[in-house]
Amino acid sequence: MDREILDLAVIGAGPAGMTAALYAARGRMRCAVFEKKVPGGQMALTEEIENYPGISSISGPELAEKMRRQAEEQGAYFIMAGVEGVVLPSSAGEPFLLRTGQGEWRAWTVVVASGSRPRPLGVPGEKELVGRGVSYCAACDGPFFRGGRVVVVGGGDSAFQEGLFLTRMVEEVLVIHRRSTFRAQPVLVERLQATGKASFLLEAVVEEILGRDRVEGVRVRSLRDGQTKEIPCVAVFPYIGHIPETEFLPPQVRRDGEGRVRAREDTCTSVEGLFAAGDVRPKPLRQIVTAMADGATAAMAAEGYLSSRGRRS
Ligand code: NAP
Repeated sequence: MDREILDLAVIGAGPAGMTAALYAARGRMRCAVFEKKVPGGQMALTEEIENYPGISSISGPELAEKMRRQAEEQGAYFIMAGVEGVVLPSSAGEPFLLRTGQGEWRAWTVVVASGSRPRPLGVPGEKELVGRGVSYCAACDGPFFRGGRVVVVGGGDSAFQEGLFLTRMVEEVLVIHRRSTFRAQPVLVERLQATGKASFLLEAVVEEILGRDRVEGVRVRSLRDGQTKEIPCVAVFPYIGHIPETEFLPPQVRRDGEGRVRAREDTCTSVEGLFAAGDVRPKPLRQIVTAMADGATAAMAAEGYLSSRGRRS
């Protein structure tokens, strides 16, 4: 692909970014999507998706591949490079500059759809044992722990969906959650309970992950009585939420206290010509479909912005 100025640079190839690219390409915008890992984002790490309307069940990687192919067929480019910095236009006639692992690119508009990464527990033993029993991706690493008990931390949809997946291969899934109620959808809670392979430790927090060369257990503290105990396990899967991927953006792009890009419902941000879509912005519901809706809105907003500046016929 030549390095002419892009009409639209999309940062991140999750459902938000790939939908933005699809709509932009169909609008005949010169559009490229930048992705540092594999297309799909969080979706690509999900074993099974059952709430994508019209498709009863599909694997995350398969849906991601379909989205990518469709956007490419319509003319979007995919550039497998992380964006390391964004330089804002110094005047109205200037484009944005993106610094990436594959050199610099210029674009008249930008959609930030960089999503988020798993939030670590931040306890002793976690960093040291990543890849040796600590994992943030059940679909990727679950099959390595066929034999024993695995611990899942968290009470949200991810903990339950991934816990459910793990019950297919491990002996026991122990869910450790800090409260007595879950925020996960009831259908997921019921399903995990019905497997007969899950147990629950509530009002408790993991204080340390134990083991020298591989995970051997967790030390847990009860929030009811403060007592601690050690529980043997072969793996720990923390699912306690996500941290937005926004560190590469300049300070002029306003963010909330968690680092998410503040954007209006039309995806406009504090910087003209730069839009935010999907999990990277604050929103009440984080689903594939809500990310996709943002992506479509952002592409339309970018097109409108270009037209208003006479860059589109
Ligand atoms: P989430 O909904 O934010 O849940 C995070 C869980 O971790 C909560 O139960 C929270 O406890 C707990 N937690 C947070 N910080 C903690 C800490 N420091 N120590 C211990 N526990 C902690 O995150 P998620 O489950 O990853 O889901 C993210 C978004 O994706 C959600 O909007 C979710 O609906 C969506 N999602 C949907 C599906 C689906 O539809 N099938 C699947 C996966 C994800 P509290 O409850 O006490 O706050």
